[in-house]
Amino acid sequence: MDCGHLGDDGVPPRKLRLHEYDHHKGYDAVNHLEVECVCIPCHVDRERQRRQEKQYHKYVSPAK
Ligand SMILES: [Zn+2]
Repeated sequence: MDCGHLGDDGVPPRKLRLHEYDHHKGYDAVNHLEVECVCIPCHVDRERQRRQEKQYHKYVSPAK
């Protein structure tokens, strides 16, 4: 797994931690193969971080 979280999450019932594909370069067709396998908490973090970065860039460079 790309996020390094292997195995279960330590909470009974000890199921395997769910992982899913994170489209870390975006959901454009050209990036459909650019995915990383991360667990859901990490995926949520990544999405939140990307949203913040996008807002930040919009803030520092409003004209385009
Ligand atoms: Zn993870």
